[in-house]
Amino acid sequence: MVLAADFDITQQRVIESTNQPDQWLVHGRTYAEQRYSPLNQINTETVKNLGIAWVFETDTNRGHEATPIVVDDIMFSTSAWSIVYANDAKTGEMIWKFDPKVPKEKAYFVCCDVVNRGVAVWQGKVFLGTIDGRLIALDAKTGEMIWEKMTVNPSQAYSITGAPRVVKNKVVIGNGGAEYGVRGYVSAYDADTGDLVWRFYTVPGNPEDDLEEGENEKNESIMKLAASTWGGSNWLEVGGGGTVWDSMAYDPELDLLFIGTGNGGPWEQSRRSPDGGDNLFLSSIIALKPDTGEYVWHYQTTPGDKWDYTATQHMILAELEIDGRLRKVIMQAPKNGFFYVIDRTNGKLISAENYVKVTWASHVDPDSGRPVKIESGNYEEELKLIFPGPLGGHNWHPMSYNPNTGLVYIPVLEMYFAYSKDEAFTFDERLWNTGVDSKTTIPPKNILQLATLIKSVRGRLSAWDPVEQKEVWRNYHTLPWNGGTLTTAGNLVFQGNSDGEFVAFQADTGKRIWSTDLKSGIIAPPITYNIDGEQYVSVLVGWGGMFALYAGMPAKYSGGPVNGKIVTFALGSDLSIADGPPVLEMPYPPESNADQVSIDNGEAKYHSYCFVCHGAGAVGGGVISDLRYMSEETHDKFSAIVLGGMYANKGMVGFSDHLSPEDAEEIRAYLIQRAKDTYYLERLNSFLK
Ligand code: CA
Repeated sequence: MVLAADFDITQQRVIESTNQPDQWLVHGRTYAEQRYSPLNQINTETVKNLGIAWVFETDTNRGHEATPIVVDDIMFSTSAWSIVYANDAKTGEMIWKFDPKVPKEKAYFVCCDVVNRGVAVWQGKVFLGTIDGRLIALDAKTGEMIWEKMTVNPSQAYSITGAPRVVKNKVVIGNGGAEYGVRGYVSAYDADTGDLVWRFYTVPGNPEDDLEEGENEKNESIMKLAASTWGGSNWLEVGGGGTVWDSMAYDPELDLLFIGTGNGGPWEQSRRSPDGGDNLFLSSIIALKPDTGEYVWHYQTTPGDKWDYTATQHMILAELEIDGRLRKVIMQAPKNGFFYVIDRTNGKLISAENYVKVTWASHVDPDSGRPVKIESGNYEEELKLIFPGPLGGHNWHPMSYNPNTGLVYIPVLEMYFAYSKDEAFTFDERLWNTGVDSKTTIPPKNILQLATLIKSVRGRLSAWDPVEQKEVWRNYHTLPWNGGTLTTAGNLVFQGNSDGEFVAFQADTGKRIWSTDLKSGIIAPPITYNIDGEQYVSVLVGWGGMFALYAGMPAKYSGGPVNGKIVTFALGSDLSIADGPPVLEMPYPPESNADQVSIDNGEAKYHSYCFVCHGAGAVGGGVISDLRYMSEETHDKFSAIVLGGMYANKGMVGFSDHLSPEDAEEIRAYLIQRAKDTYYLERLNSFLK
């Protein structure tokens, strides 16, 4: 089907959309990325009549994180593996689909699931970043490819999960890979031709070297300054990190593009910068000129990061009245636990307070704008339990800002992490490079310790007053990793959660006033739009991402992956979702005569090589195979899969260059033991029912 509309999104149209909320034209609805909609047909009175108007099933079963774009009544969205769908936004009917055919073994080099956060639409084209690092322009009417550029060195473990943004006819895209030894940057490509216009590196190169392709020579002095904040020369070999993997915002009046940068790579600072230092521009918000990539200012949230504290979290632009003065601010709740309000004209700190428990710093000094680090965050000498952990107090799940309530709605994670320096660390670009001992992720054997750990990990929706810097209301959920938020003029906040509920809260009070069960974990942020006088709310459903893969804490619907969905609601509709994934039942595990030493070795190796995807303690999160439930047939093929790469086409590469046949057998012995533990627990649970 060829569409008649032009999908002619222009700068002017995006700017005017602030007061014209019928469509959802750009990632955060407007360039300010507030994720606030002035639509109010669905409100605190009418929301009780909200029901499912249409459901579209995607054909991938891993995490769904996209924000759909709605323009000229067509919805453009993405699923896992960077697949794009164009659907009629009123009926859900698919118009076209584009699959960039990402090599599946790429999954191994992606820290946090093969997710994609959506496309950009601009003057008849749809722009997509792919897991393997390509930027692709499609014809919005047909889904046919117009141009394609490789934005990264494909021999390195770069990836793209973020949504491109288009500013002044330039498509801006960053990348991920900080755990795999890459050097972060952001690039701008000409929307018409796909030619590289500029590139800004977030980690300096060797000051002795020439500029790289696309680098602005006006940035030479600031890059020299950045290089002076790194010690030793390790970072030139291990990449340094600082990847621009998600958030951006644009202020057309100031003509500034804001980007957020990621953590240090490796995490543990001495492995990349042995003499310490701030390590600019890790964990920073940076303002650039969108025409040239010229540096304007930066604000570093976590100088000398060693906790994986990215500042790639969602950034919101707003005008706030602070001490009687209207201020142009940028707001961010990065992983490090502080909520920042920054003057976006100059990058100076206005205020910062912790929105979640923080033990690595006492506070942010208002004069210097720097965090005051404390000993409880220092794990150089001994293991420390530190708040927040590497998933942060808030991760990529977008927050939203409602100008009527003056509140920011943050999907908060309450999680700590046991950080311990890995003394045996060596850099290996085929592995996770954190410099932090991964064996601390082995769950405690003691049942009371385990119960305490599980109880301490929670999710929370916080309504935060950015002027007063304090929480106004909160709502808890059993698990963290709940979806991004949308807020509307109907005095509502919408959020999906890890248990598959889609919930409406009253925006000013936090009262939970409506919910429905969508039968698979929700991590994506909802959007809203209006066609022919009818307001719709839409959200992607599909459990996945980092917490789901690694945490070893299954959500309610975790009996195995089901395909993702786009679920769209309207008033007076009443479709429902068929049942969720089946409940898994453990086959009796095969016999093993491995001794306890081998099982313990297997446990340690599992937590070095396998847990990042298959879950701590071998407890899968319902996204990819839970290895405790392996069939006899899979046990027989174990070494062909683990060493031989038999399932490379599913994303499970072979590990023969890191594991010996004995290692693989010890890991299998550990899995059999975990399967037995689970088998008896399941039987016990069914007796107790
Ligand atoms: Ca990271």
